[in-house]
Amino acid sequence: MKSYRVPESNCTSCGERLDAAGTMCEGTPAPTPGDITICVVCGQVMQFTDTLGFQGVDDPTKIPGIHPDDLRQIRRAQEAVAHAKGN
Ligand SMILES: [Zn+2]
Repeated sequence: MKSYRVPESNCTSCGERLDAAGTMCEGTPAPTPGDITICVVCGQVMQFTDTLGFQGVDDPTKIPGIHPDDLRQIRRAQEAVAHAKGN
């Protein structure tokens, strides 16, 4: 996993200050507006805004053009966050 610095923003769900994003796959470029990200603290799904801030996503399946593989990756990432928290 590769990490990128992003402008500091707060998670839209838990309020955690986040200033980095890690990629899920090898070779994934740095985050760009519209990309999906997941809070490492609470698992909230968010989308990068035009300024690389965060916009909360309540239902990832409603994201226009989302690929089933992306939804699987989101679920896996959320499970990893839940596991890390001991749930
Ligand atoms: Zn959060």
